[in-house]
Amino acid sequence: MATDCLFCKIVRGDIPATRVAENDHCLAFRDISPKAPTHVLVIPRQHVTSLNQVESATLAGEVLLMAAAIARSEGIAESGYRVVFNTNGDGGQTVFHLHAHLMGGRAMHWPPA
Ligand code: AMP
Ligand code: ZN
Repeated sequence: MATDCLFCKIVRGDIPATRVAENDHCLAFRDISPKAPTHVLVIPRQHVTSLNQVESATLAGEVLLMAAAIARSEGIAESGYRVVFNTNGDGGQTVFHLHAHLMGGRAMHWPPA
């Protein structure tokens, strides 16, 4: 846990979030500023700064499996969706606690801006 990390505060319940799924490894909640009809963030409970710091295949896999499960529960698995890990400056990362953006419910553009 990082005391001054926004997403660690959500894990602890110090900051409210609309939770959509959780298990021993991960937590998922709705993005506060959604960029698609479905826009959910999946994070590990453990503080990991970015994809650059991921050392556990289990942790990475749990995040991805939860994203896929939420795609099913949100009804977008068949229509399609995108899972994105923005990483550091050029990647557009603004919160430095690893998170997967699960986005769907509309057609995505390629390449992303
Ligand atoms: P990134 O820019 O990839 O680091 O993504 C950070 C995301 O966190 C953005 O899409 C924000 O809208 C979202 N966000 C920031 N604060 C909160 C919050 N308190 N609850 C939910 N989502 C948040
Ligand atoms: Zn954190």
